[in-house]
Amino acid sequence: MKNLWNDDEANRAGGDALALRVYTSRLLGADPDLVLHGGGNTSVKAHAKNLFGESEEVLYVKGSGWDLATIEAAGFAPVKMDTLLKMAKLKSLTDTDMVKGQRSAMTEPSAPNPSVEAILHALIPFTFVDHTHADAVVTITNTPNGEERIRDLFGDRVLVVPYVMPGFILSRTVYEMTRDADWSRFEGMILMHHGIFTFADDGKTSYDRMISLVTEAEDYLAKQGARIEGSDVPAAVLSLDELKELAGIRNSVSGFRGKPMIVRCDFSANAQVFSNDSGVDSFSTRGPLTPDHVIRTKRIPVVFNGDASDAISSYAAEYQSYFARNATNGLTCLDPAPRWGVWPGQGTLSFGQNVKEADIIADIVEHTRSAILSAEKMGGWKSLPEQEIFEVEYWELEQAKLKKAGGGPELQGKIAVITGGASGIGRACAEALRAQGAAVAVLDINPQCSELFSSPDAVGIPCDVTDRVSVDHAVAQTVQTFGGIDILVSNAGIFTSSRLIEEMDDESWENSVSLNLTSHRIVLQSCVPFLKEGVDPAVVVIASKNVPAPGPGASAYSAAKAGLTQLARIAALELAPHGIRVNMLHPDAVFDTGLWTQEMLAGRAASYGLSVDDYKRKNLLRTEIRSADVGSLAAAMAGSLFGKTTGAQIPVDGGNDRVI
Ligand code: ZN
Repeated sequence: MKNLWNDDEANRAGGDALALRVYTSRLLGADPDLVLHGGGNTSVKAHAKNLFGESEEVLYVKGSGWDLATIEAAGFAPVKMDTLLKMAKLKSLTDTDMVKGQRSAMTEPSAPNPSVEAILHALIPFTFVDHTHADAVVTITNTPNGEERIRDLFGDRVLVVPYVMPGFILSRTVYEMTRDADWSRFEGMILMHHGIFTFADDGKTSYDRMISLVTEAEDYLAKQGARIEGSDVPAAVLSLDELKELAGIRNSVSGFRGKPMIVRCDFSANAQVFSNDSGVDSFSTRGPLTPDHVIRTKRIPVVFNGDASDAISSYAAEYQSYFARNATNGLTCLDPAPRWGVWPGQGTLSFGQNVKEADIIADIVEHTRSAILSAEKMGGWKSLPEQEIFEVEYWELEQAKLKKAGGGPELQGKIAVITGGASGIGRACAEALRAQGAAVAVLDINPQCSELFSSPDAVGIPCDVTDRVSVDHAVAQTVQTFGGIDILVSNAGIFTSSRLIEEMDDESWENSVSLNLTSHRIVLQSCVPFLKEGVDPAVVVIASKNVPAPGPGASAYSAAKAGLTQLARIAALELAPHGIRVNMLHPDAVFDTGLWTQEMLAGRAASYGLSVDDYKRKNLLRTEIRSADVGSLAAAMAGSLFGKTTGAQIPVDGGNDRVI
């Protein structure tokens, strides 16, 4: 474990305790082997003057919803110490009342809710208190004789606290254990199956102790031959059948979750070692690394042995019995869908309602796998009994959060493929879909698309849509990246220059037919097997006003687009039994696409005897059609608004008397 302390950076805090607290909290947050995604918490005690000029001791403790890696001063909630210490002495207190009591003792009402560990931080009689869920420490505690191992390793330098529920009960337990204790002899405190605390009157010592105690735990694992190193072997590429199985898994998990899911695949060497182990059925289903992971990952994953959809159904049924076994009055059963899966022969899968959630789960799974494999070399992985995990999963504070949570944007969890998406209408469609929450794969012949779209929820894949191999490859990459396909915006096209039929050359004709018609068939063919497994799947075909209202000189373009429209109408007929909607969009006069230079526009306007502005608005509504307007309509057609419409042709042209 690397000590990241840097004197220059620490000195920038200028002796301000809260600024130093921000600095060392971020150091802890920077190491995923210490804390992951909002885990852990830190605090500092300071004196502050209140409104009446009186000095009060205040605990600045991490606020809920903040992540140690990125926390700022505003992320710490200031709570009066005397209230917290009084609360520690109460015989019992519900966690909801504890949160209320803490909030009412805050000296800054707009600060976030204090961590549920605030009372415990207050009890520890040192200025700086650091708490993490360090993998190495928790791994040792999650073995059959974990407590003995911890005592052998650390002796009486640490206080060992048996597992109890985090929140008030934990604070109360530590209060009872330490009423007559001499804290000065402790370097830290180990919470069985949960994590580690270190503390000191200065920020550096508290941080140094965390790093050195965790390093001792890592060295201990190494000595037991139980240190699992990560490895960056490139992920295996799935075969077509395996990709279809993946899309089927996503479909089934989405069904049980009640919303479309993103799937992240981890087929790394470590994931393969884990999923291929003959004991995986047993050790992967004993419980999580630390109880608070249950909120993200559920207690156990689904293991795919045999038919995947059967495995997911049994998982859901077993989840409901787990709820029935453990639930007390008034609890609502959460959705029974798994959050991660073990795919023997391949690796692990993480399921999230959006890319962010799936990635967070994937990170937790990665750390959990290593911890389990380590513990298996030390007598076996031993997680907490299911009742304890259930209590955290159905903790009153978590249930309250769920009731408050909103539904997310319209297309959250959806996966969209957009062809010709590096510019113009295609790009506008990709941006509109993404703005509504969809994950997008943008296919374009322009290799720059992979730079234009290179974020967790948007990938650009260079692809020649007229080439079947190139298309199959891009579609496979999309499915392996996000787990399936729900939306296809078939947009790639070319506007051929004006030419009378009499003068038409074969090459212009063939180019137009190849890109404006045949490529759409190739893309559709490649996507259909995955759309069949999609959630409310939809195809949007970008055709043209030229279909209902052609003009002279545009035969190559209009004939191909008319063919495309007919292809889409037949697709609507063929795919309706699979629940796949196919609708067409006829844009006209979209000039902000980069195909049109100012010069071309001026020339065209002049030929009609119009100004450029009037030319752009040459439609019944006298309105300009922008690519973003087409993108918004395409996104709407992919969404629930058009959920009962298929085979429709919708113009976006400002009104055209020839079309009407
Ligand atoms: Zn904790």
